[in-house]
Amino acid sequence: MVIIGAGECGGRAVLTLRDLGHEGPVTLVGDEPHLPYERPPLSKEAMTSEAPLIKAIASDKLLAERSIRHIHSVRAVAIDRAAHLVRLSDGSSLGYGKLLLATGSVPRKLPMPGLGGRCVYLRTFNDALAIRAHLKPENRVAIIGGGFIGLELAASARKLGATVTVLEAQPRILMRGVPAEVAEIIHKAHQAEGVKVLTGQGITAIADDGTQVRITLADRQDIVADLAVIGIGAVPVTALAAEAGLAIDNGIAVDENLCTADPDVFAAGDCCSFPLAVYGGRRVRLEAWRNAQEQGALAAKNMLGAKEAHAAVPWFWSDQYGLTLQIAGLSDEGRSTVRRDLYDGAFILFHLAEDGRLVAASGIGPGNAVARDIRLAEMLIAKRATPAPEALGSQSVKLKSLLAA
Ligand SMILES: Cc1cc2nc3c(=O)[nH]c(=O)nc-3n(C[C@H](O)[C@H](O)[C@H](O)COP(=O)(O)OP(=O)(O)OC[C@H]3O[C@@H](n4cnc5c(N)ncnc54)[C@H](O)[C@@H]3O)c2cc1C
Repeated sequence: MVIIGAGECGGRAVLTLRDLGHEGPVTLVGDEPHLPYERPPLSKEAMTSEAPLIKAIASDKLLAERSIRHIHSVRAVAIDRAAHLVRLSDGSSLGYGKLLLATGSVPRKLPMPGLGGRCVYLRTFNDALAIRAHLKPENRVAIIGGGFIGLELAASARKLGATVTVLEAQPRILMRGVPAEVAEIIHKAHQAEGVKVLTGQGITAIADDGTQVRITLADRQDIVADLAVIGIGAVPVTALAAEAGLAIDNGIAVDENLCTADPDVFAAGDCCSFPLAVYGGRRVRLEAWRNAQEQGALAAKNMLGAKEAHAAVPWFWSDQYGLTLQIAGLSDEGRSTVRRDLYDGAFILFHLAEDGRLVAASGIGPGNAVARDIRLAEMLIAKRATPAPEALGSQSVKLKSLLAA
């Protein structure tokens, strides 16, 4: 068993192979110098904690105990499917019986001239360390892109006293997958914390002289910053699969068992697109922590012959200041929305399809306020339930009772 990509998904996959009793050789290949680690803290605690924090998914000791060979700082450069061989950047090769591609995604590059050493991206622990060094009260930080990672980083930078400006080309922040009502709460929270949020602002020029960055906006306004962090989305890492002749369709295309057209090659996590059963087999690619975990475990199971379909409801969370946002399901499947108010200003928007089926729920509130109800919504979505909108909207009707019905 060979797993390429020692991230969330690859890390979970190798542990699951052993949990399921596989006794043959298991090799995890990663191009980063670290043990598999959690990425979500990189924009959050890893920035604000006293010492930079790397949260490993598996320690060296655990990997050794479970006889998992971890090859780090080495890249898989080619797959010879006929020979069942993976070629590595150190010149060596690995034979495989089953192969899992868990190569993740990388930040989308800003296609503009003028970018230099003060224009950076955030994906890895090393990126986080480099950014963290600049988050100080005397520094100005520009965040290009009002998506989750940029906004979480903005919150961390404010916590550390930096002056922060968020630049979003779209008319509002979080355009992709987050309802306007929820995005507005987050926008206001950033403003209240002193972040300047500029929406509907295209960038016409960037000049980075290695000590500071001058960003010119469409309205000719100049934003000058000590550091610009670009967070304009991510693209799946597919080159290895494409060069090996595997189909790519917004990610490495796999079936519901996370298997490519080659029965010995699987793909999972951020790098793959797959048919999502809850939405009639709609092909999606998810960039979410829990999905990477679930798919890593499922791919391992299927590499051992289980043929089990991925049936989970997508789920995502984001923490900014004291607020937690959680989204279950795919909100763009919804045609109407019902709001349920909870306590402390928290609320959930239920998204219903034309036929009344609950297809998603987006919740926001302090701390854990929405967690329980989002979990119940997730179960309703999985059941393809068609709850009455009045019941969803009424605080006096327990969601649990809708599940029982
Ligand atoms: C800053 C940040 C904050 C996030 N916060 C949240 C959050 O709050 N909530 C949430 O749900 N999700 C969050 N995510 C998303 C979540 O972390 C990802 O969905 C998850 O890490 C995906 O796991 P993966 O294993 O598919 O990919 P990755 O974790 O990206 O791992 C892929 C690994 O493969 C390596 N690799 C790629 N190609 C090769 C090759 N050819 N050879 C060897 N190694 C290779 C990569 O370097 C990488 O180490 C966040 C992500 C980031 C970056």
